[in-house]
Amino acid sequence: MKRRKFTQIVGIGSIGLPMTKFSPIKNRGNAFYNSSEVIVVGAGTFGVWTAYHLNQMGAKVTLLDAYGPGNSRASSGGETRLIQADNDNSIYVESAIRSYHWWSKMMEMTGEELVLSTGRLTMSKNEGSRLYAQKRKEQLSSHGIDNTEVLDQDEIRYRWPQIHTDDLAGAMYNDGGPSGSTLMARKGIKAVAKEFVKNGGSIVIAKGQPIINYGKIVGINVGNETLKAQCYVFACGPWLPKVFPDLLLPKTKVERRDVLFVGTPSGNDQYSHPNLPEWSVTGSGYYGFPDIEGRGLKVAPYPDYNTFDPDRDERLINHYQVKRAHDFVGHRFPGLKGQPIIESRVCQVTNSVDGNFIVDQHPSSDNAWIVGAGSGHGFKHGPAIGEYTAKRVFDEQVNKEYDSLFKLKKENFKVE
Ligand SMILES: Cc1cc2nc3c(=O)[nH]c(=O)nc-3n(C[C@H](O)[C@H](O)[C@H](O)COP(=O)(O)OP(=O)(O)OC[C@H]3O[C@@H](n4cnc5c(N)ncnc54)[C@H](O)[C@@H]3O)c2cc1C
Repeated sequence: MKRRKFTQIVGIGSIGLPMTKFSPIKNRGNAFYNSSEVIVVGAGTFGVWTAYHLNQMGAKVTLLDAYGPGNSRASSGGETRLIQADNDNSIYVESAIRSYHWWSKMMEMTGEELVLSTGRLTMSKNEGSRLYAQKRKEQLSSHGIDNTEVLDQDEIRYRWPQIHTDDLAGAMYNDGGPSGSTLMARKGIKAVAKEFVKNGGSIVIAKGQPIINYGKIVGINVGNETLKAQCYVFACGPWLPKVFPDLLLPKTKVERRDVLFVGTPSGNDQYSHPNLPEWSVTGSGYYGFPDIEGRGLKVAPYPDYNTFDPDRDERLINHYQVKRAHDFVGHRFPGLKGQPIIESRVCQVTNSVDGNFIVDQHPSSDNAWIVGAGSGHGFKHGPAIGEYTAKRVFDEQVNKEYDSLFKLKKENFKVE
């Protein structure tokens, strides 16, 4: 009852077809939902939204996090994350659009500024990029998103004279909405957690380790006590391979990501939202965000194949990254040449073997679910993936295409 009413208010449909796989919690009406207890381990984007949706469905939910929702070690604990919808796989397109509506709804419910309509500018030095942009524009249009523009060099220079354009061939520009907005990441996680508690959910700050008896999860050890529930969801992000080493060490890779914030000159707002969009230069190894809330122009180098331990490794930027970022910024944003790095962060991404998220039942414990492997693009999808996970826990109807995409694959990473 509670859930239906809420879905109606939000005004977004439900995810499609019946599923066949056995789940320990069976959908037997509202009385059953209300008596179901679930522990969600991990309050990053996947965990906090799963907990939120389970709670909306009527379950009694405890959300456990070692360092608290939106903490600095978590992959979801950064300042900003991009929401974009274009993707070769239409499931991710649908999921991003659906998630955008949820993030916007959360913004309305909490009054917090969680979604900024920054726009997204994907620049390229390559002439062929116009063709690519045109294809993306058509794809987005087929999903009802009609704010994509294909720009030439002159147009980019005219709109954003603060960008050096001589070596650019063109760009794709998405003017806000699900394919060109910025999510305030840490703020967003904290807002969802607060809303979850307001709706009756409980948050426990403790590190939990599953207690496994003959393959089956029978509780969560939090040091001085054991927490028990009918069902467990493990949304532990880059810690997943630590929580289930035998199962997930071979199937996930946790890699380092550096983020630098370059100072903007006093009184100059050319590099700040809304005067500069979220930006990237294809093939340059850099993307970033405008200065938001006075933190400076965000510059994020990628990829980085160094592995990272989310508990132990130092989150410090090395001199080489600082020099590279200065070289890049001095060239692309000449007005920022010589400006200092005013803040930096080190985060991590959790990659799966095939780049898809993992949402699946634990192979030996049918009362436990694993959700994660955001693979560098997971943050935005938290609301839709959380909703999908909650439905699977309750054996509700879901789209089977999602099941096979997010299934824990048999393949492992090759040992190098
Ligand atoms: C620099 C950077 C830029 C990115 N940019 C984007 C972007 O622009 N758009 C986008 O969509 N995505 C982006 N991503 C990816 C996105 O941030 C991640 O996919 C997403 O945040 C992963 O969320 P999660 O819930 O799986 O993990 P996390 O956010 O890491 O959450 C896991 C939580 O579990 C807790 N935990 C772990 N183990 C335990 C335990 N044993 N007991 C209790 N609690 C535990 C942790 O404390 C943590 O809070 C980016 C990632 C990085 C690093």
